[in-house]
Amino acid sequence: MLQKCEGIVIRSTAYGETNKIVTIYTREWGKVGVMARGAKKPNSRLSAITQLFSYGFFLIQKGSGLGNMQQGELISSMRTIREDILLTAYASYVLELTDKCTDEKKPNPYLFELLSQTLTFMNEEYDLDILIHIFEMKMLNSLGLYPILNKCAVCEHTDGHFSFSIRENGFLCHRCIEVDPYHFDISSATVKLLRIFYYLDLSRLGDISVKDDTKKELKRVIDAYYEEYSGLHLKSKRFLNQMENFRDKI
Ligand SMILES: [Zn+2]
Repeated sequence: MLQKCEGIVIRSTAYGETNKIVTIYTREWGKVGVMARGAKKPNSRLSAITQLFSYGFFLIQKGSGLGNMQQGELISSMRTIREDILLTAYASYVLELTDKCTDEKKPNPYLFELLSQTLTFMNEEYDLDILIHIFEMKMLNSLGLYPILNKCAVCEHTDGHFSFSIRENGFLCHRCIEVDPYHFDISSATVKLLRIFYYLDLSRLGDISVKDDTKKELKRVIDAYYEEYSGLHLKSKRFLNQMENFRDKI
């Protein structure tokens, strides 16, 4: 049976001389793997639509095993991302994180929206660090992680000066600071942004400008939290860190 879906190519692997196996994150079905016969040939009508980052509609012949991609219609090739090595590094991390945090055939239209909006904003050259941090904060639930960011994780007060505690899984107020001697001292700007990134809908993101020091704090907290709880070791993340070190030096 032929079925149509809207999706984004998050992984693409050569299979034999001329075929590709493509993983698509779809609005309708979540993550699916499909065979694209002949897609490696440059003149194939499936050649462009099966590239990494391609966003489009796909016609899939579904069977018992891998489905077969019959046709595709591009909505966006994410050309700006594809043509820039730094953007490619950031966007590859977003794809790998999506891949590693999701199981096949579990529909999650909210996650599809998040992915397509993040890549579209990257393609339109919004602030990359901010987009990455929003994406990372919003993926936490998919990893089964629920940090407490709307109150103190210990005493539940919503007022006060907050720090971040990996061990207590969220914010600590000034009254409870001694509970975790390894808490992160963070500025009130970082507190506010962690909260916004976690709770706010990405489509409501306006022009937000964030100081470099605040960005560094955000990265320190989010990276440490992922390292402790996510269980992920992503190649694209290591590469991204190398790129960032390089970028800081020039
Ligand atoms: Zn407290």
